[in-house]
Amino acid sequence: MKTIDDYNFNNKRALIRVDFNVPLNEEMEVSDANRIEAAKPTIIKILEDGGSVVLMSHLGRPKGKESKYSLQHIVDKVSEVIGVEVKFVEDCIGEDVENAANNLQPGEILLIENLRFHDEEKEGDEDFAKKLSRLGDIYVNDAFGTAHRAHASTTVVAKFFEDKCFGYLLAKEIKSLDKVLHSKEKPVTAVLGGAKVSTKITVIDNILDKIDHLIIGGGMTYTFIKAQGGKIGNSLVEEDKQELALEILKKAKEKGVEVHLPVDSVIADSFSEQASTQTESVDNIPDGWMGLDVGPETIQNFARVIKDSRIILWNGPLGVFEMDTFAKGTIELGEAIAEATKNGAFSLVGGGDSVAAVKKFGFEDKVSYVSTGGGAMLEMLEGKSLPGIEAINK
Ligand code: AMP
Repeated sequence: MKTIDDYNFNNKRALIRVDFNVPLNEEMEVSDANRIEAAKPTIIKILEDGGSVVLMSHLGRPKGKESKYSLQHIVDKVSEVIGVEVKFVEDCIGEDVENAANNLQPGEILLIENLRFHDEEKEGDEDFAKKLSRLGDIYVNDAFGTAHRAHASTTVVAKFFEDKCFGYLLAKEIKSLDKVLHSKEKPVTAVLGGAKVSTKITVIDNILDKIDHLIIGGGMTYTFIKAQGGKIGNSLVEEDKQELALEILKKAKEKGVEVHLPVDSVIADSFSEQASTQTESVDNIPDGWMGLDVGPETIQNFARVIKDSRIILWNGPLGVFEMDTFAKGTIELGEAIAEATKNGAFSLVGGGDSVAAVKKFGFEDKVSYVSTGGGAMLEMLEGKSLPGIEAINK
């Protein structure tokens, strides 16, 4: 795997695909600069080598050139975070852009306009990609969040470069996922929560070969419990996925994977923070009640498995963590993973809602790695190869 450490950028222009798809507030200011901070080490290494940098990204989902999605809004923030005044051009292809890129001096940074102002970006248009390629001598991909898309700037552009590599951020994502999926250390435990079985089924299918323990929580629990003949009251269920749930359990058994399902639930008489709640056996939930979090015995069971794991993958909350009343399971799982990590386990958290949960409850620095690319990470867990990664490795 080629990374920017394999190159000396002295007197070279790096064309870097970054993920600066950051949130803006009503004043059109960056309200969370995490993604810019995350790209900083890559940019700094290139500048310190004596190179210059052309940054390209998308922002939002513009229909044509919509000014509210202009990357102009983020110029000041990028300058502040990197500590270098960033230049900006009002397009991402064309003569003006090429001139600006050609005139860059070592140590300088140019940010080009939102790639998605051109439909050709998402279409993966070759001609558009070729025009982008004129802006740099070495292509660097540091955007994991879009690595599963065969867009012009994430994939197609790479074919016009002899010299191409991964930035630190993307390299770290790939290494972390590889560590989980091809671990020599054992036991490997995957915790899958969240709402539905249907969105996780391909992931489960692929990882069964790679793990020793599968912990299941969240809303998908109840499809498994009902399929096994349990009473789940009004809990979330995918009626048509019950067969599939039983198949997963059978497959797991054949492959020697131990499946840990909840044994008790925190149940509520409505989907609300103000609901009446009680703890009940997971397969004995009365009509009119629904399971919205895992119960105390379940947490103990899960924590025991986590404590003995060497590699831990966590995707999806164990309950409706957005409401305090049903957040306990997710918090205590986070604590168990943090403890295991402190004792030497490697833990990777990924997927939109688990990342939100980890941030909300302050576990971000207590796990080994928090993946930034929800969709891209899920596709890697599903065993797919990502076009953005392949394009560099080719
Ligand atoms: P996902 O995007 O599939 O990871 O699902 C995340 C969502 O699942 C979160 O918004 C949680 O509130 C929700 N969730 C977790 N547990 C339950 C549950 N027992 N019943 C309903 N929704 C749940």
